[in-house]
Amino acid sequence: MDERERAVVGSVRTLLAIDGEWREASDGARFDVEDPATGEVIASVPEATEADATAAVEAAVRHQGAWAATPPRQRGEILRRAFELIMSRQDELALLMTLEMGKPVAESRGEVAYAAEFFRWFSEEAVRIHGDFYVSPDGTTRVLTTRQPVGPSYLITPWNFPLAMGTRKIGPALAAGCTVILKPAEQTPLCSLALAAILEEAGLPGGVLNVVTTSHPGPISDVIINHPGLRKLSFTGSTEVGMLLMRKAASGLLRLSMELGGNAPLIVFDDADLDKAVAGAVFAKMRNGGEACTSANRIFVHERIADVFTERLAAAMGQLRVARGTEPDAQVGPLIDADAVAKVEGLVADAVGAGAQVLQGGARASERGYFFTPTVLADVPVSSRIFREEIFGPVAPVYRFHDDDEAIALANDTTYGLVGYIFTESLSRAVHTIERLETGMVGVNQGLVSNAAAPFGGVKRSGFGREGGFEGIHEYLNVKYAAINLG
Ligand code: NAP
Repeated sequence: MDERERAVVGSVRTLLAIDGEWREASDGARFDVEDPATGEVIASVPEATEADATAAVEAAVRHQGAWAATPPRQRGEILRRAFELIMSRQDELALLMTLEMGKPVAESRGEVAYAAEFFRWFSEEAVRIHGDFYVSPDGTTRVLTTRQPVGPSYLITPWNFPLAMGTRKIGPALAAGCTVILKPAEQTPLCSLALAAILEEAGLPGGVLNVVTTSHPGPISDVIINHPGLRKLSFTGSTEVGMLLMRKAASGLLRLSMELGGNAPLIVFDDADLDKAVAGAVFAKMRNGGEACTSANRIFVHERIADVFTERLAAAMGQLRVARGTEPDAQVGPLIDADAVAKVEGLVADAVGAGAQVLQGGARASERGYFFTPTVLADVPVSSRIFREEIFGPVAPVYRFHDDDEAIALANDTTYGLVGYIFTESLSRAVHTIERLETGMVGVNQGLVSNAAAPFGGVKRSGFGREGGFEGIHEYLNVKYAAINLG
């Protein structure tokens, strides 16, 4: 690390945030955080104990009543101030993110802005929580509905978007009047700790947001999930862990939001604008170096344009510069760890073994750090593992299809259902495809759907619940209905 990088990491309070205090783990243990571009240890954070987990959930339970009673405008203004503070520190937070997660600084800056936007959006939603009042059909009863905070919520986030996955949950939870316990991924705890300090500076009362860092997520989460005062679990991560946590949450019948894995299809129809399609495919594939639940995992191209599209895609992917994210012109950073590289390598080898052609890349990019070259595979058999599993890396497998029905059937032939992308200049084809795709979201002629003002989420084994948009706050609100007899 150079001097500026050391200063940015050194500015983070690497302690647990529990009940308004910053403290070491109860037994003083810590674990290391590594820069995936170099393998260097850049910081350490507390290894929360079960006693710390209990203290965190009890703080959230204790502060729930007072936080729920805080005027909505006040809650909104704290979020708004936090938005301003994040944006005023965009460069420092971006560098911190790059150091712990690896993505290029330019992308980290984009994520910081995206993350902050959830606070601005939900600062505005905090004051729009409303109910209803009407006369029952037989005229005897008045129906009053109000919305109340669900209560203490446990938020678990992954490493791939270290800031935005947190704000996408914290923003609506705080706006709705819920207290929270945040457990960031063990590989990227620093952004969450920086965020907790910002919220404190913005005026969030102590104990409303509690952060526990751990490299033993199972036992620590069990303590929190099993606490009788907890009311909600919101999880972003793999489908496998999401299913496990659902089973655990059943014992307390917790409200659940599940943002899980994806296996996004990207369909290029024969009437597509090729410039848009190539640019959209590169973006949908390469955002976050392919380490995104929304990453285009299977690219289906009409046979009439398949050769030209695939050549142009390979050329565009070949121009991307792979480098440590702190290099000024880096466009693709390292994968998160050695296992991620090994998984991508294995998927490419399996596809090539089954007959796929490597048009670009296909191998590790560097001995040091966890880099993989942007890769394009053509004529990938649909039975390959790469079409079934999340790649989570910079590999674009392409398959040529014959007609619309075949493309849509292939797109839906997955257990996942997060997002699909379609490229066509025909409005009716676009609308019919939107209606037929079994996904929670569709990108039409663009490779990006993430937007704080829109409901993000999936169907099938990509989970349920929505984050962002008008829907996001309802994940943290219960409807209460009163039947009023006026006599
Ligand atoms: P993961 O292994 O499921 O981990 C996600 C989070 O769950 C981490 O904080 C992890 O902690 C924690 N965790 C792991 N095992 C746990 C357990 N037994 N009990 C409680 N918590 C546990 O997923 P990941 O590899 O970090 O993230 C990648 C996955 O997230 C991909 O499948 C991706 O598609 C998905 N994702 C989905 C969305 C969406 O919005 N749908 C967004 C981003 C990512 P540790 O870090 O300590 O393991």
